[in-house]
Amino acid sequence: MAMPEALLEDLPPRWRQKPHPKQAELSMLAFSADELLADISAAGSSNFRVVWSFAFIDSLAFIEDDPESRTARITLHSVLNHPSTPLQVIAGIFKHEVLHLTVRPREIDGKLITHPPEFWEKERELIPEMSEVWFWLWISFHSAMKRDEKRERMVINAKRAREIIHFGSFFYGGGVLEFTDQVDQEMLADAQQSLL
Ligand SMILES: [Zn+2]
Repeated sequence: MAMPEALLEDLPPRWRQKPHPKQAELSMLAFSADELLADISAAGSSNFRVVWSFAFIDSLAFIEDDPESRTARITLHSVLNHPSTPLQVIAGIFKHEVLHLTVRPREIDGKLITHPPEFWEKERELIPEMSEVWFWLWISFHSAMKRDEKRERMVINAKRAREIIHFGSFFYGGGVLEFTDQVDQEMLADAQQSLL
């Protein structure tokens, strides 16, 4: 189970009344993402209780939070729900999302910016492995990923994502590519500064 029942019951009322539009999925990951997230959110010291789930969404990942109840939920795209997805990739995404709880969006030139400069600064400091994470994501899902600068997110094309999910692990970098620091610099340049 991606999300224990007890945690679901504890979600803020607005989530209980209005269920998440996408149905949560069983995790196919080769490790416990619940434990991973528990460690990461404890280290993030934001005092938010963070839960997570997979769903077929239109971006790679996002976090929703309710400051009143200090509860947050991370949703990861279903393309990541595969035994080949490295722990480092899920950890990097979790760390990025949890960082949003301490480095908050703010207004710059009249526009609410989710990733202000201080966010990227903190990310470089606290999650130096993020470039390797993006490298793996780019290799694995570039056919389905498109950067949306304006909305500060990585859009996942639904048709391509279904192809990746249904046509099997051939498309998954994890099957052929080791998670490694042997990063191809050209690929990395493409993948860098990508947005979650
Ligand atoms: Zn983000």
